[in-house]
Parts: sequence; structure tokens; C-alpha cells
Amino acid sequence: MNLKIFDTLSGKKQKFTPINNKKVRMYVCGPTVYDFAHIGNARPIIVFDTLYRVLRSIYGEDRVSYARNITDIDDKIIVSANEKKISTEELTKQTINFFHEDINSLNVLDPDFEPKATETIPEMILMISDLINKKFAYIKENHVLFDTNMSKEYGKLSKRSLDEMIAGSRVEVAPYKKNQFDFVLWKPSKNDEPGWESPWGRGRPGWHIECSAMTKKYLGESFDIHAGGADLVFPHHENEIAQSESSHGKFFAKYWMHNGYLNIKGEKMSKSLGNILTIRNLLKEYNGEILRFSMLSTHYRQPINFSRELLESSHTQLNKIYKALNLRNVKNDGAQQLIPNSLLDDLNTPMAISEIHELVNKLNDKNISDKDWLAYRNQIKFYGQLMGLFTLDPNAWFVKDKKSLSNEDKSEIEKMINERNLARHAHNFELADAIRLKLDKKGIILEDSNNKTIWKLKNGR
Ligand SMILES: [Zn+2]
Repeated sequence: MNLKIFDTLSGKKQKFTPINNKKVRMYVCGPTVYDFAHIGNARPIIVFDTLYRVLRSIYGEDRVSYARNITDIDDKIIVSANEKKISTEELTKQTINFFHEDINSLNVLDPDFEPKATETIPEMILMISDLINKKFAYIKENHVLFDTNMSKEYGKLSKRSLDEMIAGSRVEVAPYKKNQFDFVLWKPSKNDEPGWESPWGRGRPGWHIECSAMTKKYLGESFDIHAGGADLVFPHHENEIAQSESSHGKFFAKYWMHNGYLNIKGEKMSKSLGNILTIRNLLKEYNGEILRFSMLSTHYRQPINFSRELLESSHTQLNKIYKALNLRNVKNDGAQQLIPNSLLDDLNTPMAISEIHELVNKLNDKNISDKDWLAYRNQIKFYGQLMGLFTLDPNAWFVKDKKSLSNEDKSEIEKMINERNLARHAHNFELADAIRLKLDKKGIILEDSNNKTIWKLKNGR
């Protein structure tokens, strides 16, 4: 199987060869949890979930380790918690719950590790101490800073030299920095701010060191793929490389992958423009699979212009595909499938979607034998498995309204909800979750509140 991916560091499409093909390791920078995730945040989650699915299919499900972190300590979190008059712990706990609910609706698989920054502080302190010992970091005015002048290759990912950066910038430099691009590894916390004891006083980590410490803890000093949005190339990923490679004396990530920007009417989403679309709000109107399909209809490195037209077109296409999948009632034979070349070619999902449409045309052809028809349907289902699509029972996809369900269906749903609640009371969360997933496949989503469970149709508006 020949997977090719575009590597930002070399600037080329490369054949993917893992360091150890019994343990393929990937890391994606996760959210900073201070507010609802927006649709731009969903892009790397969906794109690299698709990569995770493809890698699992090539190397085996238990031979891929995927870590996606949660940044749960950050100045933005402190500001937002103060505004809401709650503790940072309360805010991050709430936001993480919302985040998980949102991305579950997008058919995103759980990563193997989802470390939180606040649970990795001892590892960060160790790494900072190591960088100080090796003279890559210095202490000034209660801050610990990374000395960019000491890192010979600084700028290699974002392809700029320190001299160019200095010439091109006009930012005011903090007085405690030796060089303008030196960045904070540790900074002091005021009494009313969250903080941890360290050799440099009570304080908290800078953002970049979090990822360097978490990748080391969960994936090792060197690993295969580091990914994230294009906006992270500089300074975040550049700084991660500088820290990790200076501390370990060896390469950090073998391949770097970055997804393109997401725009709304050609503009970047921002608070000041008031055009932020949260995943949560979009899910009130569109099934998560529609959001996911919209995202995958553009190649991941290209910018996406996200719009209602895009969502509507995705909905129409999904209707067409689901309708075709349900045309004949033939038993599945579970034949082995080959991973499509389009997906192996740097995750060419728009190409994969056009191939799916060609297969749909075949399903719609009345002259095709049942055997061939089944083979085409299986191929579409396999594309879906790799792209996180077509997960619903085709019948469920078209049910939009509780009234169109038979009484038999409804009592079956109620029965399963009762069984799930019993399992939850007995702390059998595995069973409870299995039942929830079964309902999910039927297009039913559950909401638990005040000791009551209500159910809704995924596609119901
Ligand atoms: Zn990161």
C-alpha cells in the first residue's frame, strides 16, 4: 500500500514510510477549551480523523497511535473564566464536554490518547529544566524563555530565517527577551491565576511546550506525523520543533501535515466580524454527516469557502447516495476491499467523492446483476468507512419526523433507552454505550438531563 502525503517540512509530496510499521504514531494539536468549537476548528479534526482511518486500514487498528491534546491552561481560558465568573476548571470541564458532544456528531473516532496540558505539567517542567541545562533556555524576570539564537535550524518549517523575521516585524519586544522571537516556556502566575510550583516559582507553561511534552510522553522523542491547521506552522510548530529537537538532539516529527484555512464569504472567521459559526449551532440545522461531507468535498490543503450553498449541495449529494444504497435488499458478503488510490494520494477526498458518484450511477443501473450491485455497494460503504460517512442505516437517513415512525419502532426505541438507563445505574457503562451507539446507527440521538433521557432524530429539524 503506497500512501503519499504532502510534507510541509520538505515542501514535497512524499511516500509515507513509518519509523516502525508496527506502531505508526501521529499527533494533532487539539483545541484550546475556552468556548464552543467553531467550524474552522472542525476542519483539522475531520481531516486527520480521515487520515487516522486510512492509516488504521493500512497498518491495522491496533498499530496506529493517535494523540490529540487538549489545551486546558491558557490566557484566553483565564480571561473567559473571569468574564463568566467561574473557575478555569469549571470552564474547561464544561467546554471539553461540549467539544466531545459536538465532534461525536461528526463521526470522529476517539484518538488513542487525549492528554490535557494540566495533567502533563511535571513533564513540561522536566523538559524546561533540560533546555536550561543545555543552554537553549534562560531565566529572566521570573520567566523562562527559549533562546532562538541557539537553535541553528530555527525557521526551517516556516521557511524563514531569523534575520528576515526580525527585518519584517515591528512588534514591541518584551523587556525580558534577549531576542525578539524568543518565546515563553514558563511564566509567573498572579495569586488569583492558576499556577503550579516550579524551580522558577509558581507559574504556568507557555503554549508551545505543552505539545512538546505531551508528544514525548505519549509518542516518544521522534514519531511519524505531526499535523494541524496551517495557522499553526508559525510560530507554534516551529517552536515545538526548536524545543523538542534541542532537548532530544534528534529529529522530532518525520512528516508535517497542515490543512488549509476555512473562510466564510472569503473572509476569515473572527469575533470582530461576527461571522463565527459554531459546530453546535450548525448541528441544530444539519446532520453531522452533512458537515463532514462538506469539509471533505475540498482537498484538505486547499482553502474552503464554507457556505450554506456548500451544506445544501452536500445534503443533496448524501440524499442521492443514501437512496442508491437502499435500492436493493441484498445480503452483505463482506468481501475484502482495497483502499482507493485517491485516498492514498495525499487524502484526495474530492476525487474519492467523485468516484463514489460514479459507483452510485452503477447502483442506479437496473441492468446490473445483484452480485455486481452488491460489490459496488460494498465499495461505497468502504469509502464511507475510511471517510466517516454513510454510517446511518439508509432508512434512518430519510426519517425526518417522529410521526413517520411506527408505534413498533417507537416502543423499540423506548425499550432500548430503558435498558441503557438500567445499565448506567448498574455502572455497566460499556453496555450503556453499546446501546447508545446502536441507537445512533438508527439515527436516534439521546440527551440526558435531570435524570431523564429524551430522544431525537439525527436528521429531524
Ligand atoms: Zn501543538
